[in-house]
Order: sequence, then C-alpha cells, then structure tokens
Amino acid sequence: MRDNAPRDLSVDWAACQGHGLCAELLPDHITLDDWGYPIVSGPLSPAAAKRARRAVADCPALALKLRAAEQQVTIRSNPAAARSAHRG
Ligand code: SF4
Repeated sequence: MRDNAPRDLSVDWAACQGHGLCAELLPDHITLDDWGYPIVSGPLSPAAAKRARRAVADCPALALKLRAAEQQVTIRSNPAAARSAHRG
C-alpha cells in the first residue's frame, strides 16, 4: 500500500464495543451514533492517514481496519442491525 494512497476505514461490527476512542482520534472522519458506535466517512486524506493508523492500533477491540480506497470495502450501513444479527 502506497503511503500517499487514499484509504478507507472499515469497522468489524461484531468486534466493535463502542468505546469511541476512534472518534476522538479522527473526529473529522468518525462520529458516534446514539449508542456510541462509529459512523465512518471517507476516504481518508493523506494527512488523516497517520491518525487513522493510530486509531487502528489503539482500538481496544481490534475492530478498525485500514485499506486502500481502491479495494472493495464492506461497511454495513446499519450497525444496529449488524449487532442484532450478531446476537442471534
Ligand atoms: S475504538 Fe474500536 S471498539 Fe471503540 S468504537 Fe472505535 S472501532 Fe469500536
């Protein structure tokens, strides 16, 4: 992955625990929903990529992934439905 390549963040909804740390590190790309789960907007600018790497590394649930923007990225648009499906 080139360092200046546009990137996207994806969230593993089964792993995310809604800590919200990622939104503190990347407030220009991540906001939190009413339950504290991240809403990601992208792609990331090269300037935000360094903070994104830190957010990925610091996520206590290892739920954030950083990928090249040109790759296929799967982001579930409804985190509440994903959490419900995860619970069975
Ligand atoms: S820091 Fe990780 S666990 Fe917490 S809200 Fe962000 S993605 Fe989810």
